[in-house]
Amino acid sequence: MYALAYRIGQRRSKESRLSALGFRLSALGFGCESLEPKAESLYPDTVPELPEVETIAQGLNKRVSGDMIDSVWIGSRPQPLKSPAVTIAATLEGGRIVRVHRAGKHIVFDLETAGEGFDKRKSSGRKETRQAASLHRARERNAQWIVHLGMTGRMVVSDPAAEIAKHTHLIAKLSSGRELRFIDPRMFGKVSVSPAGFDPGGVEPLEVGEDQFTALFWGRKTPIKSALLNQKLLRGVGNIYADEALFRAGIRPRRRAAAISREQYRKLHQTVQEVLREAIALGGSSISDYVDADGEEGFFQLRHRVYGREGEPCLVCRTAIKRVVLTGRSSHYCPKCQK
Ligand SMILES: [Zn+2]
Repeated sequence: MYALAYRIGQRRSKESRLSALGFRLSALGFGCESLEPKAESLYPDTVPELPEVETIAQGLNKRVSGDMIDSVWIGSRPQPLKSPAVTIAATLEGGRIVRVHRAGKHIVFDLETAGEGFDKRKSSGRKETRQAASLHRARERNAQWIVHLGMTGRMVVSDPAAEIAKHTHLIAKLSSGRELRFIDPRMFGKVSVSPAGFDPGGVEPLEVGEDQFTALFWGRKTPIKSALLNQKLLRGVGNIYADEALFRAGIRPRRRAAAISREQYRKLHQTVQEVLREAIALGGSSISDYVDADGEEGFFQLRHRVYGREGEPCLVCRTAIKRVVLTGRSSHYCPKCQK
């Protein structure tokens, strides 16, 4: 019964997502030729950026907050594990998911972990968790489970009867009967646990004020694009949204951060937040495609104005978009609109 409702829900959401997409693209003011939905799948050529991670975290929060993790299965590949498997299992098992949110490009599960009494009950008669039980006693009452999707990672809510996908590295069985599965073919993703208070470093781009934003870059000799990608300054702004924000602000990616005026920083602060917010809003309409296990279509995002459009006409002035390589990453800009 559950599986049936699940699939029907999924199909319906796909239809509504497509119509929402067409609507949103036209609402964003692109020319007539771009009115057809022309969103691109994020995989396989790019990695999840802040808006995708935000959307996934929101989707997971909606689906699993309040649920309990009954047991955990961890695969044999060590690459994705940034905490020892036994510590991950000990922290997760018996934990209640209070909230799922984003920190930088990490998905963070706030957990309320089980107390002593619960641990004793839980560990009795279960051979594989004996080692874990000793860790239970030492662990914090609150903890966080942190997942970074890397390039190809997915975190999905799954029906237990659903086939286990190849490259599944972790399965958390929930009290509600569902499962949380972490799948990652290329294994650049990361799974870890930490006491509550995980700090990925840097400043949250959607929360930073204008003055603090300007102060981050003010006086730096590096190109502004490289500074925007520096995760120690702003966390979570990736290659695509940096290009798009610089285009909207009229600033060339190679401009030195020190050579940008206060007025231009004001504009850039605004456009960084704007592109991220628009992408998050768009992601909201396709959420079930990447949080629910049978959604296989990947991410849908804003139609890029410069990113990936080398040689194509600028949507504003028709000048051909240029591409340069900066610290190993492609940067795209309009030589007329951006100075
Ligand atoms: Zn232009």
